[in-house]
Amino acid sequence: MKLNVIIPLYNEEGNLEDLYDSLTTSLKDIKYYLTFVDDGSTDKSFSILRKIYTKNKNTVKVISFSRNFGKEAAMLAGLKNSKAKYTCIIDADLQQDPKYIIDMVKFLDENLEFDEVAMVNDYAKEKESQKFLKKTFYKIMEKSTGQHVKSGASDFRLMRSDVVDALISIQEVNRFSKGLFSWVGFNTYYMEYSANERHSGESKFNLKKQLNYAKEGIISFSTKPLKIATVLGTFISMISFIYFLVVLFETLIFGKDIPGYASLMCVVLLLGGIQLIVLGIIGEYIANTYLEVKKRPIYITKEKLGFDDNIL
Ligand code: UDP
Ligand code: MG
Repeated sequence: MKLNVIIPLYNEEGNLEDLYDSLTTSLKDIKYYLTFVDDGSTDKSFSILRKIYTKNKNTVKVISFSRNFGKEAAMLAGLKNSKAKYTCIIDADLQQDPKYIIDMVKFLDENLEFDEVAMVNDYAKEKESQKFLKKTFYKIMEKSTGQHVKSGASDFRLMRSDVVDALISIQEVNRFSKGLFSWVGFNTYYMEYSANERHSGESKFNLKKQLNYAKEGIISFSTKPLKIATVLGTFISMISFIYFLVVLFETLIFGKDIPGYASLMCVVLLLGGIQLIVLGIIGEYIANTYLEVKKRPIYITKEKLGFDDNIL
């Protein structure tokens, strides 16, 4: 098969039928199949998918999880089950227009030196607050990880099978795809597009989730935060030592009283705060290591439709 389109989805009942229509219209000229990965939806998504599957058994596959494991896990399940020349990942909310898939396929057909095409959102239709948050996130990622996480490059991309193999060979439980895509290397072409408004429903990534996602990304890809303790510690020790000499000098030579309580409190509280922050950062890394060593499965499949090992 030439193309497999992976659609990770969670509670997208209002989008699935329109998405299916839009995908089939856009892809009518190539040989493809669609892999819907239902990430533990609690709405009617799965029954809608079952209906779509029953009507289109040749082009539709469905994987359903036992609970919500997150978009990263859903993408991994799709990639692990992909057996096509090209694999594409697209969101279920029609923010990413399926018509671009054809552009990406054409590009890879014509440019053999490229292994992957990633669509880059120009944020033209995003709200100002979202735009600001996302741009800041990418800047922090670029600075802290040293990895090239291209600003605006989403998970909407088309890959050759060797890129897919490389991605699934990574065993990490905490999967930060934006970093992993760049970590595996390969020659990536960035194509610009404008993401649409969400077709139906609400974004699953609220501010809290986005901040958590950014934190996980930095911790997965960088050890720089762990060095903050060393840098701050050295800096504060040097200043304290100079201050100590000044106080000693003033007291011994000029017999001046050491000014007191308030400044002492400030220093104690400031240092206490810094120590707690640093401990917290170390804690985050320990927690991450703890989750990694347990080696729990990244997702648990409940049902599969359209696969050979389907036991229905
Ligand atoms: N998604 C998922 N599991 C989750 C959260 C989201 O599979 O736990 C899917 C979601 O259904 C959608 C895609 O990931 O297809 C992107 O999510 P969303 O549109 O909510 O994110 P945004 O576009 O706002 O960043
Ligand atoms: Mg979306």
